[in-house]
Amino acid sequence: MSAGKYMEKKRECGIRDIFRRTFFIDFIKGLMVTLRYNLSKSVTVRYPDTEKWVPFPRYRGVHTLNRDEKGRELCVACELCARACPTKCITVVPMEDDTGRGIADRVAKVWKVDLVRCLFCGYCEDACPTFALRLGKDYERACTDVSCALLDREELLGPAEVPWSFDGGVVVGARFERGKGGIKVAADLSDEKSPWFERQ
Ligand code: SF4
Ligand code: SF4
Repeated sequence: MSAGKYMEKKRECGIRDIFRRTFFIDFIKGLMVTLRYNLSKSVTVRYPDTEKWVPFPRYRGVHTLNRDEKGRELCVACELCARACPTKCITVVPMEDDTGRGIADRVAKVWKVDLVRCLFCGYCEDACPTFALRLGKDYERACTDVSCALLDREELLGPAEVPWSFDGGVVVGARFERGKGGIKVAADLSDEKSPWFERQ
């Protein structure tokens, strides 16, 4: 840009700036945003009694360990997830196994994660070569005992409540389920009465 054009541009910007300041343009823009929110319809999610939010598939919630279509564990206990974890909250202890439990002879004797230290950064699932490890859609881990934040292989291998194919980011019906850890709010994916379900 030539010096002349530069000076012209600078002058234009100066005039625009003076206009903005004189007529409180930024202040009015801010008020318009506030006004728009005040007049918009409120969205109330009736959680946990009747509704529950199901996150998008890319949401990074509590870990899941997965199996192949034959039910074999995909984890080969390579420990790459534990190495990649910046907070060192994953523990993997491998063992030899010839029972066909996993897709290889090497399976996890111990696989556990400490959610108190977890950042939900997703480095562990990126490092996993067999797609055994995924950060799932579970985000409800409030408890009074820290032991509920220590999850082991047996618990993580359970089938995920919301299938990966379910396009999340919606509010669906909720139902209470009583388990060994207390009452849980489960997503009722069959609840087609939910207005949000129509988006699927
Ligand atoms: S999400 Fe991040 S912090 Fe949590 S276990 Fe995986 S790598 Fe570690
Ligand atoms: S979850 Fe994946 S990265 Fe971690 S030990 Fe198992 S196979 Fe390796």
